[in-house]
Parts: sequence; structure tokens; C-alpha cells
Amino acid sequence: MTRRNLITGGAGFLGSHLVDRLMEAGEEVICLDNFHTGRKDNIRHWLGHANFELIRHDVTVPIRLEVDRVWHLACPASPVHYQSNPIKTAKTSFLGTYNMLGLARRVGARLLLASTSEVYGDPEVHPQPESYRGCVNTIGIRSCYDEGKRIAETLCFDYQRMHGTEIRVMRIFNTYGPRMLPDDGRVVSNFIVQALQGLPLTLYGDGSQTRSFCYVDDLIEGMIRLMNGDHTGPINIGNPGEFTIRQLAERVRDRIRPGLELTTQPLPQDDPLQRKPVIDLARDLLGWEPKLSLDEGLEPTIAYFRERLQEGG
Ligand code: NAD
Ligand code: UDP
Repeated sequence: MTRRNLITGGAGFLGSHLVDRLMEAGEEVICLDNFHTGRKDNIRHWLGHANFELIRHDVTVPIRLEVDRVWHLACPASPVHYQSNPIKTAKTSFLGTYNMLGLARRVGARLLLASTSEVYGDPEVHPQPESYRGCVNTIGIRSCYDEGKRIAETLCFDYQRMHGTEIRVMRIFNTYGPRMLPDDGRVVSNFIVQALQGLPLTLYGDGSQTRSFCYVDDLIEGMIRLMNGDHTGPINIGNPGEFTIRQLAERVRDRIRPGLELTTQPLPQDDPLQRKPVIDLARDLLGWEPKLSLDEGLEPTIAYFRERLQEGG
């Protein structure tokens, strides 16, 4: 019997790549999305396929479905989008996760939560292992997302303790690749789109803050291994290669249009100064580590945006 998967946020960046992997493996997929930051174009190639269903629905509203697995990704991930309606973001994280856990419990499905490195906040421990409890501002402009994901993790573990629900909690570090929106607002897509348009690249602050960037295919492989494995998590999935934002800007610029100007804008409140995952657990328990370097991952990502911008005129 083929397995039936519910992917919330399945029309988004990561969700649509997961849809592809599961469909290509011959599984059944129900893609559920409210299209806040997702696009039908990301999953259009599966419309009409016998194993694929698309449901326009908001996870803050309960829904009854018969599935074996819930991949719970629904939530805007870019600061620009999650801060555009922060109360809605908190509702999506709390109520959405509550509703999906309720669904999983009812039908005995296993649920994987797409949590985030943001649960570590602006970290005082570097790099960040899963045992680090984080440094999160409860009242800042990032709190709707950071605290939302923290309570979502809490709900997962309470469902496991109270009801025996099978859970998997994945802490995703900055991931990039094709199908990010040109106006997504996150740093990799911003820099690529700016450089392709011949505009200055916008460094927030002095660009000395660091991030670790994982290519989407590596990330999805880690997600599938975590869901299929025996370990609840939380488990960090990310690429430990660490870069300053200025280094990233220089790499993107030099690949697309060397000599382009870098400008600075104010650093947003609570912007974490450094971030890099410890991935020992993923290596030991899942046999996973990223395969693509930043340079290898930038190539297909730049090619994707080049094509999209040409299509859009
Ligand atoms: P994305 O914005 O492209 O995708 C999110 C998807 O969820 C979109 O399709 C959106 O329309 C949908 N959605 C949002 N709110 C919804 C709601 N209330 N009901 C139904 N659908 C809703 O972002 P992404 O990068 O693909 O992120 C996917 C998940 O992974 C998110 O939960 C995010 O927090 C997590 N994550 C991503 C990253 C990353 O670097 N990409 C890092 C950490 C965590
Ligand atoms: N950033 C930047 N210029 C941009 C967009 C983002 O310098 O045009 C910075 C941002 O301030 C942060 C880092 O890049 O320090 C990563 O930002 P992103 O929004 O991609 O992810 P997050 O902050 O959630 O890790």
C-alpha cells in the first residue's frame, strides 16, 4: 500500500521540493496551503496526477483527513513576511501545530515539525548544539516567529507524552535554492535578485553577522531521513559552513556582476549576530551531512532567478 502524506505549506519553497521527492518515490501526497507565500506554479507539474491532491486551507482552522504522515511546514519563514502580520504568524505556529497534532493523534499519523534555528535566538553559545536552550526576546519583532516555533515544539512533546503521538522535530538552519520568491526578503534571494538587476546589494548593519547556508536538496534529504528514522529530535539540519553576510554579498556579486556596489542599511532589531549548527546528532543518528558547498548551491539558484526574472520581463 502506498503511504499517504499530508504536506502543510506544500506550495512553498521547501514544501514544494518535498512534494517532488515524495511524488517521485511513488507516494500519495496531499498538499495543503493557504498560498500566503506559496505559489501554485511550484506544484503545477503535479496537478492532475492520480497520487496528488491540492487543498486550499488555512492550518489555523481544523481539518479532518486520513493520512499516515504529516509534514508540518506551514508558516511564513522570511522575516519580511512573518512580520507583516505577526499576530497571524503566532496563530499559525500555535493553532496550526495544535490542529495538525490533533489530526495526527486522531488517525495515528507520525508528525514532523519544521522548527528552526531561530529557537536559539541571538545565541550566546556558538556553534549551536540541540542542547542549547537559546536566548530569545519574548517581546521583539522576531518573537512572533521564534516564540511561535518554541511553543510548537512544546506542543509536539506534550502530545507525545500525553497521547503517545509519534513526533519528529527538525531545527532547520538558513536554507536557500530555486523556488524562493524574488520578493521573499531573505538574504540569498535578495542579493541574487539585486545583482541580476544591477542594483547595489543591501547589507543590513556592517555585514559582519554570520549565517550558515544549506542548499535545499541537502535539507530535504535530512528531513526525509528524520521522518523515516527512529529519533524524535530535536535535530539540527543545516550546513555548518559559516559566512559573514558581507562574504555572501561578495560571492554573489562576483559571480553575477563584479564591481557592483554594496550599500548598508540599519540592522533590524534582534538580528542574530552569529549562527552555525552543530550537526553531530544528524551525522550519528541519521547518517546525514550536507553535500553541496555554498558555491555549488549558488549556481543553480542564480540560474533559477535569472530565468524567472527573464520570464517576468
Ligand atoms: P515559505 O514561506 O516558502 O513556505 C511556507 C508555506 O506555508 C507557504 O506555501 C505558505 O503559503 C504556507 N502557509 C503559511 N501560513 C499558512 C497557514 N496559516 N495555513 C496554510 N499554509 C500556510 O517558507 P519555507 O522556507 O519553505 O519554510 C517552510 C517551513 O520551514 C516553515 O515552517 C519555516 O518556518 C521552516 N524553516 C525554513 C527555513 C529556511 O531557511 N527556509 C529555516 C528554518 C525553518
Ligand atoms: N540581510 C541583509 N540584507 C538583506 C537581507 C538580509 O544583510 O537584503 C541580513 C539579515 O539582517 C540577517 C541575515 O542577512 O543578518 C540573514 O537574513 P535572513 O532574513 O535571510 O534570515 P534570518 O535573519 O532569519 O536568519
